[in-house]
This record gives sequence, structure tokens and C-alpha cells, in this order.
Amino acid sequence: MSHSVSEKLKRIKQTIPEQVKLVAVSKTKPVEDIMEAYQAGQICFGENKAQEMEAKQALLPANIEWHFIGHLQTNKVKYITAFVSLIEAVDSLKLLKEINKQASRHSRIIPCLLQFHIAEEESKFGLNREEASALLESEDYKKMKNIKLAGVMGMATFTDDLQQVRREFIHLREIFNWLKTSYFIQDEAFKEISMGMSGDYPIAIEEGATIVRVGSLIFGERNYSATE
Ligand SMILES: *Cc1c(COP(=O)(O)O)cnc(C)c1O
Repeated sequence: MSHSVSEKLKRIKQTIPEQVKLVAVSKTKPVEDIMEAYQAGQICFGENKAQEMEAKQALLPANIEWHFIGHLQTNKVKYITAFVSLIEAVDSLKLLKEINKQASRHSRIIPCLLQFHIAEEESKFGLNREEASALLESEDYKKMKNIKLAGVMGMATFTDDLQQVRREFIHLREIFNWLKTSYFIQDEAFKEISMGMSGDYPIAIEEGATIVRVGSLIFGERNYSATE
């Protein structure tokens, strides 16, 4: 017999320091599983598809904090603007502009993280330092009133080489430190480093993660063929 969602959640929480936020990544999982985790005390959930997140949000308690963790297309921002707590994976000025525009329609200020490319793999989304500098120094960014940058997010390479994973997390922490001193030194809200998933979150915490995103360890393996 495998353990229930609430039991797995409880075990994982015991391995995470209190000051680190756990995002329970519920993508592809049914609302019943989310409800079980919620009833066990989990408030923050992560999804990577806008319409899936919108559909689940409508069915679940209103005080759930929803983190959007995947690549967000500009034409999908509108589905989540009314309720999303944190958009973790902003990887372009164009996307940030659209979030700002939609947020202003809802009179909201939406917290966002800048996603950086830290994996040695080719395929992952994310900014590099030059692109981040250009974004932060642009007139467009300086005019935005309905978004708030709160830190950085990254995904390590999918590999068994944990030394490599650790190097990539250290790299993200260095990027955070550089942004903090260069652009956000006076800004207490710029404080988050979101890194670490089921396979590597303990290393991410050792290297300074303030947010970890854990899915399969809580909800079990995902069946991708059914959803993609
Ligand atoms: C799916 C996903 C996770 C969680 O992955 P697990 O390995 O199931 O913990 C974390 N972050 C992002 C961006 C994801 O897409």
C-alpha cells in the first residue's frame, strides 16, 4: 500500500525548515488530491497550465495561494490574473508587460519572480544576466505599477549528477545576490529564491532556497500521456 497524500506531505514538511515555503505542485492531479493536501494544512499549490489552474481554483477554497510555475504564454495571462499569488517564471519583458496590463484591469499588484536559465541543458526557459539587466533598465519596466518583482526562480538539469545540480543552484543564488545588490538593495520584498523539486529540494535548501516546488513526492508520479 502506498501512503496517502496527507502522510507524504507530513513527512516532507518535516524535512523542510520553517522559513522555507513549500509549493505543492499539483499539475495534472485532480482537485480531490489538492483538497486532501489542503485539509492536511497545505495552503500553497503550484500549476503550470493557465486554464487548468483557473478550473481548479474555481472548485477549491478561496484562501489557497496559487503559484504559476511554468512557461506562461502572454495570451493566457488573463485566465489567472484575478487570483494568482505569485507568477514564478517570468522570462521576458513582453510577458511582464502583459501581466502588468492584466493586473491593472483587476486593480492588483501581482508578485512575480524572474526565471533564470541555470541548467546546462539546452531546452529550459529562462533569462541570462544580460537579458535581466536589459529588462530591469528598460523604461517599460520602470513604468510598471501592477507587478512586483520578488526574486528569482530556476530549474536545475534533470540528472543524477548531484554535484552538477548543486553548482546550478549556487549559480542561481549568485544571480540573486547580484540582482539584489545591483537593483534591489533597498527593496525588502525582493527576497525569494525558488529552486528545488522532488529529486533535489534538500540540496536547494542547503544552497539557500526560500521556496521549493515539490510535486511527485507528495502526489505521486504524473501520467503525462493523459494530459499533453
Ligand atoms: C513539475 C514541476 C515541479 C515539480 O516537479 P516534481 O519533480 O514532481 O517535484 C517543480 N517545478 C516546476 C517548474 C515544474 O514544472
